[in-house]
Amino acid sequence: MKIIFDIICYFFCSSLFLISCSNNDSSSGSSSSSETTSSSDNSTNSTSSYLVSEITQTNEGDGYLSGSFEVPSNGISFMLSTFMDNNSAVGFYSLTDPDGINILNSSSALYSYSSGSLGAYGFASVLVPHTTNFSAKAGTWTFKNYNNDRVKLNVRTGSTPSTATFSVQAYITGTTWSANDIASALSVMSNIFNTNGITLSLKETITISDGQYATISSSFTDSTTSALISQGSEDSVNLFFVEDQPSSETAILGVSSGIPGAMAIASSWNGVINYLSAHAIGSSLSSQLLGETAAHEMGHWLGLFHTTESTGDSFDPLSDTAQCPLSLDQDSDDKVNAEECNGYGADNLMFWTTWSASSQAAGKTQENLSSEQQYILKYSPIAK
Ligand SMILES: [Zn+2]
Repeated sequence: MKIIFDIICYFFCSSLFLISCSNNDSSSGSSSSSETTSSSDNSTNSTSSYLVSEITQTNEGDGYLSGSFEVPSNGISFMLSTFMDNNSAVGFYSLTDPDGINILNSSSALYSYSSGSLGAYGFASVLVPHTTNFSAKAGTWTFKNYNNDRVKLNVRTGSTPSTATFSVQAYITGTTWSANDIASALSVMSNIFNTNGITLSLKETITISDGQYATISSSFTDSTTSALISQGSEDSVNLFFVEDQPSSETAILGVSSGIPGAMAIASSWNGVINYLSAHAIGSSLSSQLLGETAAHEMGHWLGLFHTTESTGDSFDPLSDTAQCPLSLDQDSDDKVNAEECNGYGADNLMFWTTWSASSQAAGKTQENLSSEQQYILKYSPIAK
C-alpha cells in the first residue's frame, strides 16, 4: 500500500507470529497418511500458458501436511498457495526444489519476505521467481505445510519471456464517481507499465452498483471485502476502485491482498483496492496519483515489495533497487519520506509513500521500475 498503512506489516508483524510460535522447528514426519485434500481440479486458460490445479496432500501425522508437484522442462514460473476458509493462519514449513534445496530455509532470501514462509491469515503463497536468484527448476518439488483447506499450484510454461502482457479488469463502486472518472487514471497506470516494458490489456470497467460495496474495509478477511474481491475475474488482475474506506480505519490510498495475491484463483485475495475518496481534489479525482496508486498496488499484487520501508532499515530483496537509509532522515521523525529520498529511490513506483502534495504539484512522479522489478513481472505466472 501507499502512504500510512503498510501491508508488509500484516505479514511481518501479525501473521508470522501465530505460525512460528506454535510450529517452530518440528521434526519431520514419519507416519502416514490420511489424505485431507485430494480433488484435482485442473483447468486451462485458453489464451495463456498457465495451469491452475489443486494438489493432493498427505497428512504426516505430526501437524504437517505434505505434497509434491512437477515443474515441466519448459516451466517459467509458479505460485504455490495455501488457503484456510475460516481465515486462520496458514503457511509453508518448507518448499524443496528438485536439487534438494529448501528455498524457505532460514538462510534463504525468501525466508523473511514470502508470505508462504512468514505465514498469513487465510491465504499465503510462495512465488518462484520472487527474486532473480530463484528459478522454477524443472523436476519434482516437495513441500510441508501447516493445516489448511487446500493448496493450489499455478504453473506457467512456455518460452523465456522478454516482455509481458497482463489482462486487467477494473471495477468501480459507489455513486460519487463513475467509470468515466477513472479512465484517465487507468491511462496513467497503463503508461507507467508501458514505459517499463510491460503491456496492460484493459477490459471495460465494470460498475458494481450494490450499495454495500461503496464503503469497505481494507482488511481482506472482512466478510464484505471478501465478498467483493471474490467477484474478481480468474484471468485478470482485478483492480477494485472503491468509493470510500470506513472512517474507523486509518486512511490509506490503496491496499493489495498480498505480495503476491492469489493469481488466477477466485478468492478474497484475487485483487487490490484503490480508495477513490482518498484521491479526491474537490469533486474530481487526481488522475496521476490514482494511476500511480493502482500501478503500485498491482505491483504488490504481482510480487513487488516496497523498495524502502518507512523506517529506512528494511528494503526489498532485489539487488538493483535504490535504498534510502535512515541516515537520510533530515527531520528526525525516524521515517524516510520521498523528499529525503530524492535520488535514493523516491521516484520508484514501489517506494513506500508518495511525494508531498507540493512536490506532486511541482510534477514529481513515481513511475520507475528497476530491471529486476521488471523481471519479476515478466516472469509472473499470469503474464502472457
Ligand atoms: Zn505499498
